Amino acid sequence: MFVGIDDTDSIKGMCTTYLAAKLCHELDIIGSPKLVRLNPNIPYKTRGNAAIAFETNDLSAKKKVISLVKKYSMVSDSKTNPGVVFLESKKVPKKVKDFYSRVVSELVSIEDAEKVISAIKADTFKLKNGRGIIGALAAIGFNGEKTYEIIAYRKSKKEVKERKISRDSVVRMNDLFFPGVFDNLDVSGKRILITPKGRDPIFCGIRGRSKNIVCKAWDMIEPLEPIEFTQLFETNQATDAHLRIKKISEIKPYDCVIVSGTVSSNPKRVPGGHVIFGLTDKTGSIECAAYKPSRDFRDIASFLAVGDEIKVYGGISKYVKTINLEKIEVIRLNDILSSSRPVCCNKNMSSAGRNKGFKCKKCSKKILKTGVKISQKNRSLFLGIYDVPAGSRRHLSKPVFLD
Ligand code: ATP
Repeated sequence: MFVGIDDTDSIKGMCTTYLAAKLCHELDIIGSPKLVRLNPNIPYKTRGNAAIAFETNDLSAKKKVISLVKKYSMVSDSKTNPGVVFLESKKVPKKVKDFYSRVVSELVSIEDAEKVISAIKADTFKLKNGRGIIGALAAIGFNGEKTYEIIAYRKSKKEVKERKISRDSVVRMNDLFFPGVFDNLDVSGKRILITPKGRDPIFCGIRGRSKNIVCKAWDMIEPLEPIEFTQLFETNQATDAHLRIKKISEIKPYDCVIVSGTVSSNPKRVPGGHVIFGLTDKTGSIECAAYKPSRDFRDIASFLAVGDEIKVYGGISKYVKTINLEKIEVIRLNDILSSSRPVCCNKNMSSAGRNKGFKCKKCSKKILKTGVKISQKNRSLFLGIYDVPAGSRRHLSKPVFLD
C-alpha cells in the first residue's frame, strides 16, 4: 500500500516530515520515505510546501497513520487542513504520476484530486476541508530525478527557534563533502543553512546527491543539544522538477516557468532594493524581478540591457504580472554602442553649436568635425547561467553547480 500525507503542520509548530519519521519508526516500510516539495508559489503553504509518501505492507498501517495524524496535526491553525491518501496497488498508476507533475508546477483544486482518487479507487482520511489530499496524492506520484536529505529531529519538544550546533563541525563537513552535499552554508561561509529557523522539531537537514554521502556528512556534525532520531528521505529537492517551458501568453497565476525572450526595458532598482526589467517574446511581455535577498544575483539582473537574449526561470504569484526570478541564462548580449566626443586637455570637448564642431573649454581650440566617436560598450556580463545564492534558493531549484 502507498500512503501520502500532507498539511498537518503550522507555522507555530510540528512538521509533516516528523510525523512521517515517527511512522517510519513504527511501521515496516519499503525503501525510503519520500519528502516531496510541491509548487512553491501556492498561497496555502505554511513554509516549504512539503508532502510525504511511503510504501508499506504493514497491515496495521491505516490505523496507525490515522491515529498519528490525529495526534500530531495542528488543526487549531486556520491554514492546517490535513489529508491522507491510501492506495492499494502494486505500482503507482500513471494518473497519479501525471497528477504529481501538475501539482509540483501549477495550481490545482481539491476536486481535481478527488477525481483522480475516485478513478484509482484510493481511500482518504481528511480533517477540516482536507486540502492535504492534493499534496498527499501528488507525493505518492513523485517520479523523476531524485536527491536525498537526512533530517535530524530535536529531543526537546519546547521547539525554540535557536538550534545548538558546532559551527566548526558544519564547516569541516562542508569542506569535505561539498558539492556532494550542498546548501550547508551561505556564500559568505558565515551563515549555517542546514538548521531551520522556525519553531518545529527539525534540528538540521543535510541535502545531497546520494544516500551514502548525506549519512557520512551527518556523522561529522556535532549537535550541542540532544537528538531524538534521524530519518533519511528521497526527495525532488534541487531538481527543477517544478519548471515548465512556456510562452508568455501561456502563463497562468501560480505557474513555475522557463521563458525565452528579449530584454525589452532596461533594469531599474526600485524602492526595497529589488531589480525589475521587462521581457518580451513573440506572444507578449512580462516583468521580471530579482529581489533584495538574492544579493549579487540582483547585480547580474541589473547588468542586462535592452536587446539581450535570455532565458528566465521563476515563479508567478496571484497576478500574471511578474516572474520572480530563480535563474537567468544569458544567451546573447546585444551590441551596445556608446558615443564619445573628441578629447582635448584631458577632457571631452564641448559642442561649439549646431554643425559647428567642438571647442575645448580650457585652451579654446576648435575643431570642425561634427561626428562623435562610436564604440562598442564593454559589458559586465558573460554568457551562461546565473542563480540566486543558497540562502534564498527555493527547495526545488537546482543549483547551477549541480547541472
Ligand atoms: P511544510 O511546512 O511541510 O514544508 P507547508 O506547511 O509549507 O509544508 P502544507 O502545510 O503542506 O505546506 O500546506 C500546503 C497545502 O497546499 C496542502 O493542503 C496541499 O495539499 C496544498 N497544495 C500543495 N500544492 C498545491 C497545488 N499545486 N495546488 C493547490 N494546492 C496545493
